[in-house]
Amino acid sequence: MSKADVAVVGGGIIGAFSSYYLAKDGFEVSWLVGRNPREAASWGNAGFLAVGTATPLPEFESLGRVVRWTLQKGSPLKVGLKFILKQGGWLALYMKEGRRSTEARAVRLLRQMGLESLEAIEEMVMTGLLSPEFSRKGALAVYLKSKNLEKHVEGLKTTAEVGHKFQVLTADECRRLEPLLSGEVSGGILFEEDGWVHPAKILLQMRRLAEQVGAKVFELEATGLGLQSDAVNAIDVHGEKLTAENYVFALGAHTRMFFKRIGLDIPVAPAWGHTVTLEPITGKLSRPVMIGESKVALSQTHDGNMRVSGFFELSTPDFRPPESRYAWLTKRAGEVIPRLRDLKIVDSWSGMRPCTPDGLPIIGRLSRLRNVILAVGHCREGLTMAPATGRMVMGIIRSGSKSVHPMLSPERFKL
Ligand SMILES: Cc1cc2nc3c(=O)[nH]c(=O)nc-3n(C[C@H](O)[C@H](O)[C@H](O)COP(=O)(O)OP(=O)(O)OC[C@H]3O[C@@H](n4cnc5c(N)ncnc54)[C@H](O)[C@@H]3O)c2cc1C
Repeated sequence: MSKADVAVVGGGIIGAFSSYYLAKDGFEVSWLVGRNPREAASWGNAGFLAVGTATPLPEFESLGRVVRWTLQKGSPLKVGLKFILKQGGWLALYMKEGRRSTEARAVRLLRQMGLESLEAIEEMVMTGLLSPEFSRKGALAVYLKSKNLEKHVEGLKTTAEVGHKFQVLTADECRRLEPLLSGEVSGGILFEEDGWVHPAKILLQMRRLAEQVGAKVFELEATGLGLQSDAVNAIDVHGEKLTAENYVFALGAHTRMFFKRIGLDIPVAPAWGHTVTLEPITGKLSRPVMIGESKVALSQTHDGNMRVSGFFELSTPDFRPPESRYAWLTKRAGEVIPRLRDLKIVDSWSGMRPCTPDGLPIIGRLSRLRNVILAVGHCREGLTMAPATGRMVMGIIRSGSKSVHPMLSPERFKL
């Protein structure tokens, strides 16, 4: 393998935008994408470009709540026993730091990254570089119980100063926007700024685009790291060596496992989520819908297939989800769009969100390894923040700086 300016490791959406911006800026890029794109969280996620809808981490807030959520039957939030035993340290840090991502300055930063990313994707669509079924008609959060809607609206007051644009809607207004919704829906919130893309389409199209601007793409995995004092001098790729000036790691939820081999504990935990794709229907959703109570996300492809995503299960990478998770998703979807109840599942998928204990991604250089840049830990918003992250990675390499923002810096975890 010839020497590159930058080796990018990880074939998800963060690796994709990092490789694209680096190659477009003139760097020689070698990009290891791994063997199977379905293994990336970027493949099967809900596709929300969630400028206003999402918080990066669910707010467990206290240990008591974690226990209550975990024990509750049918809860979409789960914490596995194996996770508690193997990653108790992550959980403890989360209890301490988990609310940081809901502080106004963090929400402002994430919003800025989300908006910048949405605009970048929109421009790429408008100029014909991408065609990932993009829409920008907002996202609708609907509630079955009005008291739950009121609670959400109350919660939004704390971030109102950040400038999120939303409208609270009655049940009739929700159904006027989305006629497929059932009479059980009691109201909702339209997050006007949000967008949507088909996640697998944008991922594959970005791979092609990165290649078109000069990145060399290898469908291979990094199997080891060669170290020399305070730097990496090569990546092992099944017996061959890939060498570069700088190494970008965008390994998502695989990060912790990968760096353990050199004794670095990077606090990125896997939070499993699942998506089912149902057989196509003729009626159309104009925008993605989130069911407030169950946090289940619905979106529809151009071919009419409804995609239903949900769950947040802190577990280990070897977790194998039971089939019941997929049936549960279809059931929840049927509560707001009754005709989905009897549809067949044509594809089921599970993937790992890469989550840090404070809910913010880690983007920057490791202090122990001066030529290693991490771009990991985007948890529930990796697609939403991907272009902004890619530009940050490019900026760090171009300027030789350590990071672009203290709230995103690896140093906050003493890395
Ligand atoms: C059910 C679900 C719904 C979601 N919904 C949304 C949403 O609506 N909006 C949103 O913004 N985000 C959403 N997310 C989160 C989003 O999917 C992630 O934040 C994002 O995909 C993370 O991207 P990534 O590139 O960091 O990691 P990944 O996409 O996981 O990519 C990591 C890559 O590293 C590769 N890899 C692993 N080990 C190696 C190795 N040794 N060598 C080379 N490559 C390796 C893997 O094969 C993979 O390609 C959702 C996630 C889930 C699970």
